[in-house]
Amino acid sequence: MGASFWPEFFRRELAGLEQRGLLRRVPDLDRGADRFVTAGGGRLLNLASNNYLGLAGTPEMKEAAVCAVREYGTSSGASRLVSGQYSLLDLLESEAAALKETQDALAVGSGYAANVLLLQALGGRHAVIFSDRLNHASIVDGIRLSGSDMERYRHADAAHLAELLERHRGRERKIVVTDTVFSMDGDLAPLKEIAALCREHGALLVLDEAHATGVFGQGRGLGYELGVAGENVLFMGTLGKALGAHGAFIAGSREAVDYLRNTGRGFIFSTALPPAAVGAALAGVRAVIRDPSLGSRLLDMAAGLRAFLAGLDFDTGASACQIVPVILGPNETALRARDFLAGRGILAPAVRPPTVPAHTARLRLSLRADLTDADLELTRAALADLREAMSAWT
Ligand SMILES: *Cc1c(COP(=O)(O)O)cnc(C)c1O
Repeated sequence: MGASFWPEFFRRELAGLEQRGLLRRVPDLDRGADRFVTAGGGRLLNLASNNYLGLAGTPEMKEAAVCAVREYGTSSGASRLVSGQYSLLDLLESEAAALKETQDALAVGSGYAANVLLLQALGGRHAVIFSDRLNHASIVDGIRLSGSDMERYRHADAAHLAELLERHRGRERKIVVTDTVFSMDGDLAPLKEIAALCREHGALLVLDEAHATGVFGQGRGLGYELGVAGENVLFMGTLGKALGAHGAFIAGSREAVDYLRNTGRGFIFSTALPPAAVGAALAGVRAVIRDPSLGSRLLDMAAGLRAFLAGLDFDTGASACQIVPVILGPNETALRARDFLAGRGILAPAVRPPTVPAHTARLRLSLRADLTDADLELTRAALADLREAMSAWT
C-alpha cells in the first residue's frame, strides 16, 4: 500500500479529469502575447491575450526592459525590506500612484499575490468581507486566508450588497471587494452605487482593476472614470495585462499602503520584482500617461464589434469593454465554433462551465489596440461565416 498511494492518486485524478472533459493542457502555441501566435505551423490572429494595448512587444518596451537589466541585473536578489530594493522600484511606485492619483503605491510580484496579501493583511477574525460572487479566484483565496467572515453578494447587485451591509451594521471592520471589469462577461461593476454604500457604512472599498488598468479612465482605471476615490479606497492594478510587463501594484492613501508594507506577507516574504519587469512596467505606465486615448480607441473597437455581432444575432451578454463574449450555450457548440475560427485563422478560446454558468459556454474574444483594419475585417468575415455555418449544426 503506502508507497504506491501518491502515484496512483495522480493517475486516478488525471484520468477522472480527462473523462469529464476537464483536463487542462498548456496550449500548443508559441509567441502567445503577440498579435499573431504560431500554432500547428500556421499563424493565428490572437484574440486570447490580455496584452490589451499591444505594449508587450513594442521596441520601446523591450528596450526599457533591456536597459533595466543592463543597469540592475537579472534579479532583485532579496525581499524588498531586506536588500532587494533598487531605485527603479521607487520610481515605478511613484508613477503608479500618480497614474491612480493616490498618495502612494506598493509594487508586488503579481496580481494574484497582491489580492491575497492585501485581503489577508486587512481582514482577520474581527473583519467581514463583502465579495461579488464572480470575483477573481485570487480574491476568494485572499478572503479565505484572512480568516474573515465572508458575505458573497449577487453579481453586480448593489441592492443585495446594501442588504448584507445592513445586516452587519454593528461591525467595525468592513471591507467590500470587487473586480471593476469582470473577465468572463466583460461587464462592469456598479462602482458608483457600491462606493456610496461603502461611504454610508464606513466600509473600506477594494477595487481590482486588473482588466481596467490601461483601458478605462484614460488608462487610470474604471474607478477613476467614475470618480471613485478617497482614503477609504484601495486599488489593485496589474502590470502584466494592458501595461505589457509583469507584476502588480496596490495604490491608496499613504497610511494604508504603509500598513501593507508592514503587514503584507506576500510582500515581506517574497523576492522583489526583477529589473526587467520593473523597467518594462515603468515604460508601460508612461506609454499610457503619454497617450490616454489608447484605451478609449480599444473600447470603441469593441463597441463596433458588439454592434456587428448583434447584427448577426449573436449574444454578447452584458459586455461593455474590450472583452466580448459570444455566448453560444452548449459546450459542444462553443468547441466547434472555436475550431471553426481557428480554421479561419483566429485564436479565440471556448470558455465552458464550471468557469461560466451551465448552458452559457462561449467564445471569449479579447480585443487589443494593435489590431489593424485588416485584422478586424478578417474577424468580422469569420464571425459572419460562423453564423452561416452554425445554421447547419444540430
Ligand atoms: C489576472 C487577474 C488577477 C491576477 O493578476 P496576475 O498578475 O495575473 O497574477 C487578479 N484579478 C483579476 C480580476 C485578474 O483578471
